Amino acid sequence: MLRGTSSANAAAQKSSHKQLNTNIKGTRMANKYKIIYDREACIGAFACAAAAPDMWLFADDGKADLKTATFNPATKKWELIIDEADYDDNQAAAEACPVYVIKIVKIDENGNEIEEKKEE
Ligand code: SF4
Repeated sequence: MLRGTSSANAAAQKSSHKQLNTNIKGTRMANKYKIIYDREACIGAFACAAAAPDMWLFADDGKADLKTATFNPATKKWELIIDEADYDDNQAAAEACPVYVIKIVKIDENGNEIEEKKEE
């Protein structure tokens, strides 16, 4: 009986340890994303601002501004790195945009785009 209990405890400890490793790995490997915004093609519908009002703002020229984004002269698009915590709201903004000018890509620690694996 004792042996069974001990074995059960060992299994529980192993499971707990496994969970801890997952959590540590999850923290270390926190997902990062890059919003790529083609402001030139924005038609000022402001669905983005409705979906993520903390990030998307009305600008005087009738287009949306992505708060704290920087302009990439090579692509002529605005870019902003975000954490997992800001992903859902901005993904909702991207999906709400009627002209699909907001793109969100997953990036690695060097800022390179990560290809999402397709399900088979
Ligand atoms: S939803 Fe799209 S088109 Fe409308 S303001 Fe936002 S970025 Fe521009």
